[in-house]
Formats: sequence, C-alpha cells, structure tokens
Amino acid sequence: AAADDRVPAEVRERHARLCQELDDHSYRYYMGRPIVSDAEYDTLMRELGEIEERHPPLVTQDSPTQKVGAPISVDFSPVEHLERMQSLDNAFSSEEFDAWVHRVEAEAPIDAYLCEPKIDGLAVDLVYENGRLARAATRGDGRVGEDITLNVRTVADVPERLDGSSRPAPELLEVRGEVFLPGEEFEKLNSRLADEGKTPFANPRNGAAGSLRQKDPRVTATRPLHMLVHGVGAHTGVEFTHQSHVYDLLREWGLPVSDRYRVLTTREAVRDYIEYYTEHRHEPAYEIDGVVIKVDDVSLQRRLGSTSRAPRWAIAYKYPPEEVTTRLVDIRVNV
Ligand code: NAD
Repeated sequence: AAADDRVPAEVRERHARLCQELDDHSYRYYMGRPIVSDAEYDTLMRELGEIEERHPPLVTQDSPTQKVGAPISVDFSPVEHLERMQSLDNAFSSEEFDAWVHRVEAEAPIDAYLCEPKIDGLAVDLVYENGRLARAATRGDGRVGEDITLNVRTVADVPERLDGSSRPAPELLEVRGEVFLPGEEFEKLNSRLADEGKTPFANPRNGAAGSLRQKDPRVTATRPLHMLVHGVGAHTGVEFTHQSHVYDLLREWGLPVSDRYRVLTTREAVRDYIEYYTEHRHEPAYEIDGVVIKVDDVSLQRRLGSTSRAPRWAIAYKYPPEEVTTRLVDIRVNV
C-alpha cells in the first residue's frame, strides 16, 4: 500500500478506468459483440501497459495486461487445460519487433526463428490420449476452457485418431490450434443465414467462434469449419527439439499444419517474411491479422520462459486494421 500511495491519484483513476473498459470490451468481444475495433482495443491496452511500466505497483494479477481472454459460458462444462493456454505479445512496428529480437538475443543464442501467418480464428485445445481424441476445449481464461468436444468432432480437419505414420502416437498429447472459416465459406454461410432470415456474422472470426460454440453440435456440423494446429501443451511419450520438429510430427500424425511456415536464420529474412505477408495478406484462404515469430529451438523457448499472459519466445507482428465493406451486411465493419 505504501508503494501504491506514491502513484498519483489521477494515474490510479485512469488505470482503474482502463482496466474496467478493457475487461468490458474483452467480454463483449468473446461474446461475439465487440463495440470497438481491435486496433482501438490494442491502443487502450498499450496505454495501460505504459502506465504499469511507469508505476509497477499498479500491476496486479487481474490487470488485463496479465491475463488471457474470455469468460466461459454456462452452456458448456468447464475443463481445466493440462498446461496453460497463453496469448501472444504484440509488435505493431518494425521498431517494436527489433526491440523484441534484441531482448531475446540478449538472453539466448537464437539461431533460427519459425515464422507463420497468425490465423484470426478461435483457439482450441485438443487432448489426445493414446492417439484418440479425448477432449476439445476453448481457451477460456487460459487455465479453464469450455468443453466443446462434440462440436469439434464435427470438424473434418480434426482427426479422431492420430495415425497414418510409422511413428506411434504418444501416450498423451495436448495440441493447440485455430479453428476458422475460410473467406469464401464465410460469405456462403452468411448468405445462407440471410436466406434463412438469421443474423449474419460480422466477420469470419465471429463466424468461426459462433459456429463452434453452438449448444447443438448438429448445427456446428453444417458449418464449413477448418483447423490448423500451431503448437503443443502437455505431452508424455514424445520429446520435441524444435518448433519445426513439433510441426513435422503433428503432420505425420495426420494433424493439419500450415504449409506457409518458414524456419529463417537471419533477421533480414524474418523481416522479409513479415513484409511479404504485409503485401500478400489475402493470399491465405483464411484471414490473418499478422504473423507470428517463434524461437525455433525448444530448449531456448524454455530458457526464455513466459509471463502470466504470454511466452517470451514468441511475438505476434500485427498488421494495421483494414476497413472493408461486407457485401451481405450493409454496414462498414473493421476487421
Ligand atoms: P491474440 O489474438 O493477439 O493472439 C493470441 C492467439 O493467437 C493465440 O491464443 C492463438 O490461438 C492465436 N494464433 C493464431 N495463429 C497462431 C499461430 N500461428 N501461432 C500461435 N498462435 C496463433 O490474442 P488474444 O489474447 O486471443 O486476443 C487479444 C486480441 O483480441 C487483442 O489484441 C485484440 O486484437 C482482440 N480483442 C478485441 C477486442 C475488441 O473489443 N475489439 C476485445 C478483446 C480482444
């Protein structure tokens, strides 16, 4: 409390206000009804981060800077993830990206980065026990998510069994991925909903989240959802040396891995990758809101560790928002 007293009252008030606003926006966002753009949200978050950097006593466990997304709905049973699901820290400019590289390289001898598009979908957690899909959940607050096993089972890209390779599936494997609606499928779904007199989705991310979080899995089954996986959580019976090694094995077991990832050994090559997707943002069939850059070596990932909210060994380079006009909903929305 003594340290807290040294924070000027107006700063404390602004801090409290920002926390409340961000929590409120986050709630609306994860309920599929955001009232501000992602860029506006990110700006408020950044202001909060800057205040906390100047006044460390204001950093508490339940500050939006320290926690991961979403409230969980009573429509689903809560499930505890075997290993925490995290968010990602952001870089919004090449200066911020360079600062991140500088920080990680000061701590660990990084020889390669794995770069991949950042899919703007819904994070899912899949648990495979002896190669069989045992459970699927949303990210929730990172510790506890919603049980959406029956819904996820209707997604064709999600294998029921890990096989198809000479390598036996491990005893236990928690896989992290993103469920999404490809742009074309999103448009088709929206026109179908409009024909049926139902409310269309504001953007593909909402469409994916809304489709996957249906009370009735038969509805989810009619939605053209896809999935790509981009990481693992808890695992026994297998060891991974590199992020790219993780992807090789996941692919061998029949899980869908992006073919757009690259392992790059120089900062210049990473910058070119970022630049490429800045210019070719619409090349993937799914929406991307940036690219993710990860330290490839798993032992260095461990050495760098993570905060309560995000790993230190990865960063999301976020692209500026685009304003688009959807053909079906006659309003301008920011995605
Ligand atoms: P995030 O979307 O910035 O990034 C973290 C997530 O990216 C991970 O959980 C993962 O599921 C996903 N991801 C996609 N592709 C990936 C890949 N290739 N590798 C690793 N992870 C990948 O963070 P978040 O915590 O999910 O959400 C925060 C963001 O959501 C904000 O920055 C903002 O853009 C948006 N948001 C908006 C509002 C609003 O009101 N508009 C409110 C809350 C949050």
